[in-house]
Amino acid sequence: MRRLLIATRNAHKLDEIRGLLPGVEIVGTEGWPGVPDPEETGATFEANAAIKAEAWRDATGLPTLADDSGLEVEALGGAPGVRSARYAGAHGDTAANNAKLLRELAGVPAAGRGARFVCALALAVPGEATRTLRGECRGRIVEAARGAGGFGYDPLFVPEGEAKTFGELPAETKARLSHRARAFAKARAEWALGEEDNANKG
Ligand code: IMP
Repeated sequence: MRRLLIATRNAHKLDEIRGLLPGVEIVGTEGWPGVPDPEETGATFEANAAIKAEAWRDATGLPTLADDSGLEVEALGGAPGVRSARYAGAHGDTAANNAKLLRELAGVPAAGRGARFVCALALAVPGEATRTLRGECRGRIVEAARGAGGFGYDPLFVPEGEAKTFGELPAETKARLSHRARAFAKARAEWALGEEDNANKG
């Protein structure tokens, strides 16, 4: 798979994914301004990634990769989960989302604050069954936000084996440990992204 459409309208995400898939010709969605974003109605990260990948594959006829990610907290039964971006109501209100998470965990001792970031990827190729996989980064939620790096829940999350939050750790450390890095490493290996397609060989 050497040429892939990335199912996102987010230019920052497109750039990040370009860096995670060396050897792949990455196509953005900007050439299709009329295509509506599909509703992410899935109950799982994998389902939502598949909804996005299949919608864009059907609209463009191109092999398409989509991602969906979020945070799952054990003591909250996996919340915020697929609602991570809109946990407090409005989509993408990071301050409100983080404040709500700390409120929900008020009084929960350190041992009960286990959490994981999850990144699901879906690959939708015309004429083939959609494939999905996930990368995870385990850690815990701190008592109060620390650090200004990263985005979203990063100032609240300490990855396993570290003492600092993703908001405090250098970007290179997050790039090595993150759910997204792990998902893309798996995708490169399991889906042979960046390698010549079998169908085109010989
Ligand atoms: P999306 O899959 O990029 O739409 O991310 C969904 C939401 O999950 C984001 O809005 C964040 O709230 C949260 N999230 C996903 N990945 C990260 C991360 O690496 N750090 C912090 N928050 C994240």
